[in-house]
Amino acid sequence: MSIERTHDCLVVGAGPAGSAAAMEMARAGIDVIVVDRGEFPRFRIGESFLPRTKRAFRRLGVLDKCLALPHARKLGVEISLGDWRHGPQYFYFRDVYGDGDKETFNMARAHLDLMMMETAREAGAEVRTSCAIESIDRLDDGDVRVRTNQGPIRARWMIDASGQATTLGRELGQRRFHSFLRNVAYFEHFEGVIRPSGRGQNCFGLTILDEGWFWMIPLDDTRTSVGFVARESLHRALDVAPEDRLQWAIARTPVLRERMANARGPKKNRVISDFTYRCDPFAGPGFFLIGDAAAFLDPVWSTGLTLGLLGAEQAAGSIIRMSQGSRASIERERHRTWMKRITDRAFRLVEGFYDPNFRDLLFSPNRTKSLERAFVTLLAGEIDDIPLDVGLRCRALQGLCALQRVRPITGRIRPFRIRLADAAEPIGIEKALPA
Ligand SMILES: Cc1cc2nc3c(=O)[nH]c(=O)nc-3n(C[C@H](O)[C@H](O)[C@H](O)COP(=O)(O)OP(=O)(O)OC[C@H]3O[C@@H](n4cnc5c(N)ncnc54)[C@H](O)[C@@H]3O)c2cc1C
Repeated sequence: MSIERTHDCLVVGAGPAGSAAAMEMARAGIDVIVVDRGEFPRFRIGESFLPRTKRAFRRLGVLDKCLALPHARKLGVEISLGDWRHGPQYFYFRDVYGDGDKETFNMARAHLDLMMMETAREAGAEVRTSCAIESIDRLDDGDVRVRTNQGPIRARWMIDASGQATTLGRELGQRRFHSFLRNVAYFEHFEGVIRPSGRGQNCFGLTILDEGWFWMIPLDDTRTSVGFVARESLHRALDVAPEDRLQWAIARTPVLRERMANARGPKKNRVISDFTYRCDPFAGPGFFLIGDAAAFLDPVWSTGLTLGLLGAEQAAGSIIRMSQGSRASIERERHRTWMKRITDRAFRLVEGFYDPNFRDLLFSPNRTKSLERAFVTLLAGEIDDIPLDVGLRCRALQGLCALQRVRPITGRIRPFRIRLADAAEPIGIEKALPA
């Protein structure tokens, strides 16, 4: 009779979070098996990284590998209001408080995720692709048993890094959606998008509308990722096929029309639900949740990868310490507390974006440099270890938002509004490249 081998840790999902956790554990001598239901390379959205993400890549020893792949520099964020009223506002990472990185990069995830998965394998993790979890038969400290399409797997611990599939969150009924951050994203990659010069050079382009927002992310020398994130109300009201909505929205938004005047790309767009949720508690008997399997946050500030990589570091650290004798209950509590703290902070940052009072302050000609720098420090993803003075300035910013709500201290900003009934000349993207 063959006896099934028991691995130290099963990681579900070989995305950046799962691969990062696997490489850390394998390097520490832990017997890790990673399963992913997909094949690599594969398309994934989430292509713009924060300076804090860059530091996490450096710590993992993969930064040089990242920079050897096609990528584009990212020095800051250019925020406009859809029709150039008020002019764009610029926020540069060079203004970040402290010693953190002052710039970062964007890249296509197909490149990044393949490299991360291969590095986990090189580190000694066993990685099985096209291997999907079909059932979880036992979940306890020291005893995890699952069934996959390639046979059963046993392990002492499980890290769920299965992304928006939230394998364990669903199984345990833990997934809770945010009350109003319920958006839908329409996106594609294009050639020939006009990139800003001057102050906006090498910036992430963020265009705010009343009904949502656009991103424009240079991915390499020629390719740009363009996406439209629509509020659920627009998504429901619109009588346009979901795969045509990116072109529909671009044609009606002056900033995008201008930048996309010579763009070429697929006619139809991809679609993904962008509903913010969390699967709290983030650890339990036999398991740890990381990345999007733990929580998904509206991507406006590009926090996804930062949270995924930092969470991976925490969970891998817990498994390594447990293998050295630390108690499961202690490590579980540590992970839960850390994940809750960091997720709460990121949630507050995103909720701020959707607060019109915060927007008024962002566009205020009188905004003070020190508050702007505190905001940029959070925008850089420096949310795991906030220095006291930055924390105090952020509190001051919150106070100003509250004041703006009841007694405006600066002019009210109205973003551009798409009129649903308006006809618009179609844009020239129908000179499409093959998808
Ligand atoms: C519209 C949009 C824009 C975004 N923009 C950004 C951005 O600019 N910057 C940023 O940092 N983040 C961004 N994000 C977030 C980012 O995409 C995610 O945070 C990131 O991909 C999460 O990585 P992960 O490793 O947790 O999961 P994933 O990368 O999703 O990997 C999960 C893996 O698990 C596998 N899997 C799932 N279920 C199973 C199963 N049952 N069995 C086996 N394998 C399974 C999948 O095949 C997949 O490979 C954006 C997200 C959206 C929706």
